[in-house]
Amino acid sequence: MNRYARHIALEQVGEKGQKRIVNSTALIIGLGGIGCAVSSYLACAGVGRLFICDFDTVDETNLGRQTLYSSSDIGQLKTICAASRLIEMNADIKIRQISERLDNEALYTAVTLSDVVIDGCDNFATRFQVNAASVRNNRPLISGAAIRLEGQLAVFGPDYTESPCYRCLYQEADESLETCAGNGVLSPVPGVIGTIMAVEALKCLAGINSERGILNLYDAVSTEWQKININKAKNCPVCSKTAIGFL
Ligand SMILES: [Zn+2]
Repeated sequence: MNRYARHIALEQVGEKGQKRIVNSTALIIGLGGIGCAVSSYLACAGVGRLFICDFDTVDETNLGRQTLYSSSDIGQLKTICAASRLIEMNADIKIRQISERLDNEALYTAVTLSDVVIDGCDNFATRFQVNAASVRNNRPLISGAAIRLEGQLAVFGPDYTESPCYRCLYQEADESLETCAGNGVLSPVPGVIGTIMAVEALKCLAGINSERGILNLYDAVSTEWQKININKAKNCPVCSKTAIGFL
């Protein structure tokens, strides 16, 4: 445990909190700029088991911000490259790679086996599926995105009876998700968001309270953060009382 001495020295973590972290499993959806930052910190912090999911291969245009990969990784699966780097960082953890698109069943299984779900993927369809699986299994969901010089993140659950879910925030009609490919992104912005998502994940795992259901918006131009309360949508198809009753 000497590796984690600086965590153990923290009043809010201590030996008990670090043991919880070491005995935890985190599911990371998407190994782009956000996923690289989150998985690096969770591996270094000693999260015992990491499920890392991405079906994509490393592209040269990723290298500016996806810090787990290097030029020699171009064309290789992100999961394979990421797993080998993460194990170099901390050989005491276990990593399971999921290198294909998660269908509902595989996703539910992965969520069931995880203590925290971290979503840094690049499309609404997957985000909605990940949210539904997290609500259904009462798992905390940490969701984040970054584009241009902007980023956002929010922590949801694990009690969704009173608190909102990701689907309360975004409707199906918002399908026009912008991409970094089309809009550009400043290299460290996904790293900023991913790093804070790692902080939130470790707080969840160590048992440190966190604000839930708040959208945190980051403006890298003005270096300002804005907090917006997310209201629980009365008729949310995922987390409303009727929807949960049907599950
Ligand atoms: Zn909802």
